[in-house]
Amino acid sequence: MSHPVRTSPRTAVAGSAPRLEIDLSAIAANTRLLARRSTGDLMAVVKADGFGHGAVAVARTALAAGASSLGVTSIAEAQALRAAGLHAPVLSWLNAVDADWAGAVGQDVDVAIPSRDHLDALTRATIGARVHLSLDTGMGRDGCSPVEWADLCRAARMAERQGRLTVVGMMGHLPCADVPEDPSNSRGRNRFSWGLMTARAAGLRPTVRHLAATSATLLDPLAHHTTTRVGAGLVGIDPSRTTALRPALTLTAPLVEVRSIHGGTSIGYGHTWTAPGPTRLGLVPLGYADGLPRSASGRAEMQVRGERVPVVGRISMDMAVVDLGASGAEVGEIVTVFGPGDAGEPTVREWADAADVLEHEIVTGLGARVARGFRPARPPAAALRSVR
Ligand SMILES: *Cc1c(COP(=O)(O)O)cnc(C)c1O
Repeated sequence: MSHPVRTSPRTAVAGSAPRLEIDLSAIAANTRLLARRSTGDLMAVVKADGFGHGAVAVARTALAAGASSLGVTSIAEAQALRAAGLHAPVLSWLNAVDADWAGAVGQDVDVAIPSRDHLDALTRATIGARVHLSLDTGMGRDGCSPVEWADLCRAARMAERQGRLTVVGMMGHLPCADVPEDPSNSRGRNRFSWGLMTARAAGLRPTVRHLAATSATLLDPLAHHTTTRVGAGLVGIDPSRTTALRPALTLTAPLVEVRSIHGGTSIGYGHTWTAPGPTRLGLVPLGYADGLPRSASGRAEMQVRGERVPVVGRISMDMAVVDLGASGAEVGEIVTVFGPGDAGEPTVREWADAADVLEHEIVTGLGARVARGFRPARPPAAALRSVR
């Protein structure tokens, strides 16, 4: 290398293209923490390509670190996990009435059923399904309304007695679990308990009962039941902002151009930024098509040579500009867009705050043209100590 690069070794990798590194040891560590906090089993939620981290890799890592089942939205996502050779129980909870129910049963995929329409379509399409009945515990957007719950339970029990399906589980979801004092939490828990009594009264025996996602797993043991259903926490996002979870993504890119400009030079679409004095600008080949939120223009930062540099002007579809200032960074050097923060680089949370979006939106929105690479999970520290 002709330039002495003072970034951390992690970001100093030579590379001529943007690269997203996924640290599976972070996902393993987060899984172990969340499994310890769960009174029951842990279901690893790997929807939306494992929150943008790679569904198969996150699933494998989480199963090896203490999760015992997997959760996704669509049947197609569940089938992709099966195709990758994962055999753990998988639940798919968001499907159209005319979904491929037979395909789910054929691949041993459990399905959540939120309505009579879904139940009737399922029993017409196939036999042998493993069903989790889904109750609206306050979200108000999905799950069976309490008004229709007893009817759904009776119909499911009838289908069960006819040998058409088995109700193995029951699920709910809490809307405000990141705010522990919100009264909707106890209301949701109570409604879930009522729903379970109602199901039992109808003759059902749902053995896998799950209400808590990441926030309630961390904050509300009363919501744990037999299984917690955790997604964001696995990848280091804590919506409750109470717990030190480890971010798993590092996004880097080379400076593809560096230029010196005079004070008064305006740059980018709309000329939203004008240099107050002479400076050097670096061009980063990542834009909103790659998932950098345009709303973070003029607010976010990146890191080069160990120093923070501001993003100036508009983030456009394919590129962003940083003001290198006094940094001597040269063309070809690697810029860190975000990482876990260990070396002072910006984090996904900082980008989310700069853009006024959720961290979830950043990690699930990274574009397909960014090359992905995985850092393998290491065994837990205790295991390492025992072999020394
Ligand atoms: C996404 C999702 C989860 C996971 O929630 P996190 O807060 O990311 O842990 C759990 N349950 C349902 C129904 C979901 O849609």
